[in-house]
Amino acid sequence: MHSISKRLSILMFICTFAAILLITLFVNITVTSKFNQYMVDIQNNRYQRIVTYFEDAYKRDGKWTENTGIELMHEAYMGNYCLTLMDQDKNPVWGMNPKEIKKQMSNASMPVKNTGVYRTKTYPIHVHHKKVGYVSIGQYSSVLLTEEDQNFKASINKSIVASAVITLFIIVSLSLYFSKQFSIPIREVAKMSVRLSGGNYHTEIHKKSNIKELEDLRNSINVLASKLKYQDTLRKRLVSDISHEIRTPLNVLQNNLEAMIDGVFLVTTEKLSYLNEEVIRFGKLVNNLNLLKEFESEGAKFHYEITFLDEIITDTCNQFYLVAEQKGIKLQYTIQPNNKYRVFADKDQLKQVFINLISNSLKFTKKGGTILVNLYETDHEIVAEVIDNGIGIEKEDLPYIFERLYRGDMSRNQIEGTGIGLTIVKNILEHHNAISKIESDIGKGTRFTIFFQKTRV
Ligand code: ADP
Repeated sequence: MHSISKRLSILMFICTFAAILLITLFVNITVTSKFNQYMVDIQNNRYQRIVTYFEDAYKRDGKWTENTGIELMHEAYMGNYCLTLMDQDKNPVWGMNPKEIKKQMSNASMPVKNTGVYRTKTYPIHVHHKKVGYVSIGQYSSVLLTEEDQNFKASINKSIVASAVITLFIIVSLSLYFSKQFSIPIREVAKMSVRLSGGNYHTEIHKKSNIKELEDLRNSINVLASKLKYQDTLRKRLVSDISHEIRTPLNVLQNNLEAMIDGVFLVTTEKLSYLNEEVIRFGKLVNNLNLLKEFESEGAKFHYEITFLDEIITDTCNQFYLVAEQKGIKLQYTIQPNNKYRVFADKDQLKQVFINLISNSLKFTKKGGTILVNLYETDHEIVAEVIDNGIGIEKEDLPYIFERLYRGDMSRNQIEGTGIGLTIVKNILEHHNAISKIESDIGKGTRFTIFFQKTRV
């Protein structure tokens, strides 16, 4: 198995190598064919010049002699080609010996075996539209290119190979550098997921990546870690809360029963009914847990219908009015008039939301306090608020108060409660696509706001 960086580097290397090979081949073929074409053109021009030279010589002398065009012989030797002049009946007038060319080439340290096949081309010589003779030009095939030409071609090939090697080196270095930009963040994420799977949630990746997808991956794994950490805290807290809730009534029962068995306490109806109350409290806790289970299960039944929020709030407030008065708390509701607060909802469940919120405010507000319930609408939403000037909630408790069995700090143990009221509120509101917000200041009070979507019916 390879690492990502190794795999990417190998991939880039193979692609680059293939690309360079193809380019080198293509450039080489193009340069060679163009160069050969160029050399053939030069040769044809030279042959044409030789023919014209002989035509001019014939015009000047009016006949062929042993010396006609003999001046070209030197140039022919230098150019490694062989001339033969023939009259109109193809009888040689004069000619060079191809063997001498070969000899000269071997003298010039040109390996004889490389001289190739000897080929001749014969061109007619015309004077005044009349064929007066022929010139035959012979050459060893590979000598079509002179040594300088061959050197020129070789140097081009050398530069192509050198640039290919340099490019390959640069690409390999760059690919190593860039592949690391992928592999390092992925390796970090892999390491972090191993830590998370081992139960270590106090972990985070700090190093940012400038690749969007990798940055998204880093953010997601960080969010996942913080959520797991949060869930872990909740789980631990839930276990300790449940054991605390169960332990208290059990201890009371155990101590009292032991005292009765030992004869310390007399078994009286009064004592027995006190113990029965504890058993009932214990039963309530189990019932509440059952209720929660039902709410949180997919099967929770809601009966949606057109419902009026103003009616729900009026009913609930009236229901609590007497209790508030007995506790010396002022309960007041304000409903912005001339509006129809119509929502598509389960009326009983929504009523449960306001019952839980108002009863919380009543529980956590001292004598002389005030609870305000407001209902109004904005352009897009219907807003309901339950505001109290009670004891408030600690900042560090705020994120947890909607969780099962979560109950403020320990001092609130004196205030009766189950820790599931707000969990139920949250659940019902989620089923109604309503958004809730809680703001609280310790010692100043709490404001619970619910935003309902308007119904267009
Ligand atoms: P319970 O009220 O039975 O304890 P809830 O789920 O209704 O459970 O509330 C959870 C916790 O949130 C409470 O224990 C309390 O600490 C805090 N809380 C809720 N409402 C208020 C409020 N109006 N004022 C102060 N604290 C509140």
